[in-house]
Amino acid sequence: MFIVSNISFLSSLYKDSVKNSLRDNVFIISNLIKEYDKQRYQNIFKNSDVRFNIIKGDGVVVYDSKKYDKEYELENHGARKEILALENDEMGFDIRKSSVSDEMTAYYAEKETNKDGETIIVRVSKNYGSTQKILRAILLVEILFFTLLNIVIHSFYKNYLKRDVYRKIEIIEKYLKDEGRGGTLYFEKDPWILNLWDVVQKWQEKNLENIVELNREKRILHQIITSIDASICLFDDNLKLIIKNTRFNYLYEKDRINYLDLIKDIEIIDVMKKTIEQKQNQKSEVYIPRLKRYFSINIKFLDQDQRYLLSIKDITQTKGMLEVQKTFISNISHELKTPLTNIKGYVIALEDAPEPLKLQFIKTIKNNIDKLENIIVDFLNITKIESSKIVNIEKIAVERLKMELNLSLSERIKSSGAVITYNLNLLNKHGELSIDFEKVLTIIKNLVENAIVYRGNKIPEIEISIIETKSKYKIGIKDNGIGMAPEDVEKIFERFYRVDKARTSNKAGTGLGLSIVKELVEICGGKIDVLSKEGKGSIFIFTILK
Ligand code: ADP
Repeated sequence: MFIVSNISFLSSLYKDSVKNSLRDNVFIISNLIKEYDKQRYQNIFKNSDVRFNIIKGDGVVVYDSKKYDKEYELENHGARKEILALENDEMGFDIRKSSVSDEMTAYYAEKETNKDGETIIVRVSKNYGSTQKILRAILLVEILFFTLLNIVIHSFYKNYLKRDVYRKIEIIEKYLKDEGRGGTLYFEKDPWILNLWDVVQKWQEKNLENIVELNREKRILHQIITSIDASICLFDDNLKLIIKNTRFNYLYEKDRINYLDLIKDIEIIDVMKKTIEQKQNQKSEVYIPRLKRYFSINIKFLDQDQRYLLSIKDITQTKGMLEVQKTFISNISHELKTPLTNIKGYVIALEDAPEPLKLQFIKTIKNNIDKLENIIVDFLNITKIESSKIVNIEKIAVERLKMELNLSLSERIKSSGAVITYNLNLLNKHGELSIDFEKVLTIIKNLVENAIVYRGNKIPEIEISIIETKSKYKIGIKDNGIGMAPEDVEKIFERFYRVDKARTSNKAGTGLGLSIVKELVEICGGKIDVLSKEGKGSIFIFTILK
């Protein structure tokens, strides 16, 4: 814009100056014109770059300083713009290509009166093309100059802006690194950077809120994970543990053995490797001989993170239970069937049996009925315990307890020749006990019965001791029977557990007696323990609250 306006200003300036100089020429010539002497004119204008014409009113060129003596060759100039302008009383000026020189030429014409009083036109003209060339050159120089200037200013400003922005960013960076402790930010009232800072601050506040929320969720998640009844961990393709829950350190809670800081059991590692190879979820049950326990292993492949979620659960107890229950059901049906088949067989045989055998048959039938009764009583006891856990304490005399016990075990005592002695140490002078009679009787009866059943070849010698303290009774049942191995002692209170059946004559045993005893003791607010030595005997000691 600037260049264009500059050029047009320059050219109009130049045009005016050409016009004025031509007009001055015309003025001088006007004085010369008074006498019409072409020879003289020619002498003056021969070497001048100004062309001089004298044109008559009808447009005939009578003198041309560049076509001296050949004016007749020139066409009529009446239609020339500058001549026509004079006729219209306007300024006789024009710039155009000359038909004589074939170059851009400026013309200026004015009307004059010669010495004969005739109106003639005096026209001077001058080459204008060279001026245009000069203007064009100026234009080019200007363009170059301004382009260069533009580049310099642009790059300077760009660098300045860059440095300025860097400086401001550095200030913000420093401020953020100091976590805002370095005071407030100062940006010399730079509004856009202040706005930007505002946005950053709002964004930061929102982030902080999100972090608080995330932490809260993380805490909850952590609580959930730690409270899950399984060992959980996240591992990667290199079997490296990334996160684990606290439970993971103790694969089985009972003993709290801290062995899984690192997984070293090949049984678990195999399942993990299989998951990594196949990139598929795995579910498996493994037995770890080192721990003598069963585990259920569940691995989930998290394909988005290329990680694996492992959960391990100790299922030894459940598995053992299931195993025992399975054996129990098959045993119990067998046990129920055997006495029933016997009863049926002997009843049929009884009809035709000779008199001396009849009594023996009846005795066998009775024995089998006892076995059936035993099994059913145990079942009933379990059902009773499950349905009611209420303790019903009453005062009863020790003598009544002894009597009931003898009565219910009379046959066993008689057949085994068992000797039962009592060692009482009661606070109460009248020999009274404050107990849930039915429950305590069932407990003692079961323990004494076992003491008789597991007597081996000896005559059972059983000592029942009752020691009363202010708050509880401590009751012991000691025998001289076959005793138990320590590994069996650990398990005898589990439901359905039976030590090798072959070692006893108690074929009708259910493995439920001691689990019933334990449950009843616990309902009465006490605990039960056993000390036993194989071949020597056992002592069961339990407490009950008053
Ligand atoms: P059951 O007698 O029906 O088999 P229990 O629960 O009463 O079931 O006993 C579990 C196991 O504990 C028995 O199989 C037996 O081997 C063992 N046991 C219980 N009492 C004694 C005892 N006084 N002496 C030796 N072994 C015993």
